[in-house]
Amino acid sequence: MPAVHRLTPKTPIVLAKTSTRGKDFHGDRDTAEKEFRELRDELIRLQTALYAEGTQKLLVVLQAMDAGGKDGTIRHTFKGVNPQGVRVTSFKKPSAEALAHDFLWRIHRAVPGRGMIGVFNRSHYEDVLVVRVSNIVPENVWRARYETINNFEKHLIDTGTTVLKFFLHISKGEQKERFQDRLDEPDKHWKFDPDDLDKREQWDEYQTAFQDMLNNCTTNHAPWYLIPGDQKWYRNLAIMRVMVDTLRKMDPQYPEADDLSGVKID
Ligand code: ATP
Ligand code: MG
Repeated sequence: MPAVHRLTPKTPIVLAKTSTRGKDFHGDRDTAEKEFRELRDELIRLQTALYAEGTQKLLVVLQAMDAGGKDGTIRHTFKGVNPQGVRVTSFKKPSAEALAHDFLWRIHRAVPGRGMIGVFNRSHYEDVLVVRVSNIVPENVWRARYETINNFEKHLIDTGTTVLKFFLHISKGEQKERFQDRLDEPDKHWKFDPDDLDKREQWDEYQTAFQDMLNNCTTNHAPWYLIPGDQKWYRNLAIMRVMVDTLRKMDPQYPEADDLSGVKID
C-alpha cells in the first residue's frame, strides 16, 4: 500500500492529470483517522528505537504550493514523538551568508545525524522552484541543479540516511479555500502572506516547475511520493503509511545491554 503514491524513475507524470484527492481509499474519514492514530503510536515506538540505536538517519522532505499543508502535516504526524529525536528545519529566503555559498551549503548542515529524524519544511528543491519561477538565476544554472541534487541525495544515502520526499498536491480551488479561511479567521491572519497571492497568479508556472522537479529527481534511491493533498485526513494517512513502512524496514534495534545482573543501587 505505501508504494501507491511513489513515483517511478523514467516514468514521467503529468501533474494536471494527477488527482488531488485520495481516490484509492475506500473507507471513510473515521476509518482513516483511526488507522492514522494507530500508525502514529507505532511511529512513536519506532522513533524511540531509532534514537536509542543511534546509527541510522531518516530525512523527510516536504514540498507544496502555499497552503499545501506542510505545517499541518508536521504537526499531526509528529505529535507525541520525542522532540529530542526530531529536528524540523524550515527553509525561508536564504540569508546573505547562505547566498554567498553554493545552494546546498545551508541544506547539508541541517541533515539529520545518527539516530535522528530530520524534517525539511521546504528544502533544496526551492532552488529549482521559486528560484526558477522568479528568474533568480538563469535556466542553465537551475537546470544543472537536478543532477546536483540527485548526486547529493545519493551521497546522503550512501552515508546511512534514508530519504523520503513528499510533494503535497492540492488543487487551485482548495488553495483558494485555505487562503480564504486564513482571511476569515483572526487567529489565522498571521499565516496570511500577501506575497502568496502573487505566487497564486503564477500557479501554472509553479505546477510546471513541480512537475519537472518530480520527473527529474525521482531516482531509485530517493523517489518522490506524490500525495493527494485536498483532504487533510487522507494526506496525513498516506504520509504516515509511508513513514511507518520505511521505519519498519529500517528496523531499528535497541543496543545490546551490558550485563546488569551484578549492579546494585545503594
Ligand atoms: P511557509 O510559506 O512555508 O508556510 P512561512 O510563511 O513561515 O512558511 P515564508 O516567510 O513564506 O515562511 O518563507 C518561505 C519563503 O521563502 C517562500 O516564499 C519560499 O519560496 C522562500 N524560499 C525558500 N527557499 C528559497 C530559496 N532558496 N530562494 C529563494 N526563496 C526561497
Ligand atoms: Mg509563506
